[in-house]
Amino acid sequence: MEPASREHLIEERRKHMLEQQQKLKATTSKIKHKIAVISGKGGVGKSTVSVNLAMAFASHGHSNRVGILDADIHGPSVPKILGLTGQRLQIGNQAIQPVLGPLGMKVVSMDFLLPEVEAPVIWRGPLKITAIRQFISDVVWGNLDILIIDLPPGTGDEPLSVVQFLPEMDGVVIVTIPSDVSQVVVKKAVTFARRLGIPIIGLIENMSGFICPHCGTKTDIFQSGGGRKVSEEMGIPFLGSIPIDQKVSENSDKGLPFIVADSASAASKAFMGIVKKIENFLKNREKQNSAASIA
Ligand code: ADP
Repeated sequence: MEPASREHLIEERRKHMLEQQQKLKATTSKIKHKIAVISGKGGVGKSTVSVNLAMAFASHGHSNRVGILDADIHGPSVPKILGLTGQRLQIGNQAIQPVLGPLGMKVVSMDFLLPEVEAPVIWRGPLKITAIRQFISDVVWGNLDILIIDLPPGTGDEPLSVVQFLPEMDGVVIVTIPSDVSQVVVKKAVTFARRLGIPIIGLIENMSGFICPHCGTKTDIFQSGGGRKVSEEMGIPFLGSIPIDQKVSENSDKGLPFIVADSASAASKAFMGIVKKIENFLKNREKQNSAASIA
């Protein structure tokens, strides 16, 4: 290749990257708060927590101003829990229109692009990173009070990309279950967030004991207290425990966030206590940020 054309290509690439950065900044600057929900391993209720968190914010005076990004490229489950399976993202003019969920929630998920629910995504890192960037910067999120990002379990490409594209993230909520195995992996998630310098809002212990609906006896199916123990050991806030409740799973399968479908249950009450702590964390961050901008 001629040196001049190589220089031209490098210059074109540099310009393209600059444009991408500007686009990302223009989109994310209109989103007041960004929080990610992470877990060490799958199946602990991370997506259930993400969706119900988005629902709680939307119903606390932020309707039409909440977004949820399902960043789990391989196992997207947010659409199912919100009853949005089968909906499609509208793409045109380098802009992606999110799907509208309950209370005007803006929802983006890989699931909205797949030809059928069973279709797997078989992608290597670079493609996933591009998809995550476009899901953040090319989506018409508009002015949002909060964007909840449901990250896939573990510490792979997707979580790293989200942090790279959203360096100003408010913090992460970590979800675990009480078992010993989960405690070991959840510590990796805590260390991951620390190494990347993301504030840790706190840890939720999900599936914490089962209360028999017939006799009221509590059975600690996955043991108990593991989440609080990890929080103390790792020096992070403990946000609360959510019990195992058959209705949580039934309502999720029906596409109904459990805090709305069954608001009087112990699981919903526990969840709303957790939401309050997250709201307080965000309020304190706002105060700190405004104090820092005055100083
Ligand atoms: P993850 O995102 O961590 O893979 P999900 O949110 O998809 O996990 O939850 C896994 C399964 O567990 C789902 O079927 C969900 O409905 C169920 N589930 C989550 N939390 C609870 C709970 N507290 N009680 C009963 N079932 C739950």
